[in-house]
Amino acid sequence: MVIEYNGTVLRNEVAIKKQRTYKSQNRGVFMFRIDSERVVDASQTGGLARYINHSCTPNCVAEVVTFERGYKIIITSNRRIEKGEELCFDYQFDCVDSQHKIACHCGTADCRKRIN
Ligand SMILES: [Zn+2]
Repeated sequence: MVIEYNGTVLRNEVAIKKQRTYKSQNRGVFMFRIDSERVVDASQTGGLARYINHSCTPNCVAEVVTFERGYKIIITSNRRIEKGEELCFDYQFDCVDSQHKIACHCGTADCRKRIN
């Protein structure tokens, strides 16, 4: 285990409203989707894990585990990580919205060129 992705668990509807509010305030949005119903909002109450970038060839994986009737998002390494090496995991965004593709700039040899 490397770090826990902390934040506030929100229902989808609340997360969408908060995302709009943050964007209107020109604030960073840090959210992690647990499932089709729930999102962890790390924008205001999150820890350092919210700054971990996406990579198509990551050195970490994010796992959602149930814990005491709640959820925990655990970031674990999938190989040895060298001192000073940037942590990254595959965001695994849905490919539902083909109109708004997000370009990937991870720079790895196996880069898919898109995050979603
Ligand atoms: Zn990439």
